Amino acid sequence: MKEQLKQIICEAIDSKKDELNNISQEIWKNPELSFEEFKAHNFLTEFLEKEGFSVSRKTPLETSFIAKYGDCTRGIKVGVICEYDALPGVGHACGHNLIAEAGIGAALGLKAAMDSNKDLKMNLIVYGTPAEEGGNGKCLMIEKGVFDEADICMMSHPAPYEIPNPLWLAIDSYRVIFKGKTAHAAAAPWEGINALDAAVACYNNVSMLRQQMKPTNRIQCTIVDGGERPNIIPERAEMVWDLRTQKDEDLTILLKQWMECAKGAAKSTGCEVEFIKDCLTCLSLNTNQVMIDLYMENAKSLGVPFEDDHMRELLQASTDMGNVSAMKPSIHPCFKIKSEETNHNHGFTKAAGSEESQLPTLNSAKSMAMTAIDIVCEEGLLEKVQKSFEDSKPSAL
Ligand SMILES: [Zn+2]
Ligand SMILES: [Zn+2]
Repeated sequence: MKEQLKQIICEAIDSKKDELNNISQEIWKNPELSFEEFKAHNFLTEFLEKEGFSVSRKTPLETSFIAKYGDCTRGIKVGVICEYDALPGVGHACGHNLIAEAGIGAALGLKAAMDSNKDLKMNLIVYGTPAEEGGNGKCLMIEKGVFDEADICMMSHPAPYEIPNPLWLAIDSYRVIFKGKTAHAAAAPWEGINALDAAVACYNNVSMLRQQMKPTNRIQCTIVDGGERPNIIPERAEMVWDLRTQKDEDLTILLKQWMECAKGAAKSTGCEVEFIKDCLTCLSLNTNQVMIDLYMENAKSLGVPFEDDHMRELLQASTDMGNVSAMKPSIHPCFKIKSEETNHNHGFTKAAGSEESQLPTLNSAKSMAMTAIDIVCEEGLLEKVQKSFEDSKPSAL
């Protein structure tokens, strides 16, 4: 039965490939930033409604949605996640148009399997999750409890490499504001308290901290305010910092060390310092081993080649999917599209809109749907998935 259902999935996705490509193209041609994904939200919800899903638009956020198929009273609840936000200046340079396509493609495949066998014990939930690139939409949706009912969650992400279990890092973002005092820079600089000096000292302190940092940690910043004119001692400086670690528990340690760097800079310059947390913490990605083994097996059956495990090191980033993966058994494989450049570059934007990206996107959609079918059809597999999830939980959580 399982193999027959997998065939139905693949045929259903292939039969809808033009429509899926159209939606992906429309999203790609109309790049929208975090929380402003109104057109993408419309394309996707209209399509899912037309396909017979019961769609709650604007739930729980203005540009999120939840679409269900199945009676939702029994069976395994499979969550499929779509992203569709773009980046400023470079459009769909992270290829989230393809994430949306892979998600609704997987959903259509699973719907066809459910239609062909009414005894299939599963329900399908498609989550439209906005603002991955800024704002952490999934974290806000988690706070509203929308993922609670899912048993497993899955999404896939385009990249220049095939990386089934990417090493994506936990991240915290902060604004740091130094406050000093103005003075005439030539007439009486000794009367001023230089906030820009505090920002520069903070930058240098963190540069020294890097020497003793774990090589898997990452810290970057920009100075977004460094005063108005050189003839006025700057009374205000503002920095934006991203702090990332491979393990969630390391983030707390790094955060403490980094704060001391900023406090030290404030003290040495006589400034006051204020910390503003920019958005909710993203946890590191916890790929479910049992689920990803199934995904790889299914992808291989479609002819997808996988590279060495060390490829994981090549593309490190962060995602709010980390927080979903901390609460539910999840996968977030990266599928390879042909691109000269990595994500967040103009070259990747071009690749995400190319005809060549269609085959890998559809293969990923099929692989996700087939993985769900494995878990639904094989007795005891969900329990194995759950055990692997429990075993992988970091002790700090
Ligand atoms: Zn991105
Ligand atoms: Zn992305």
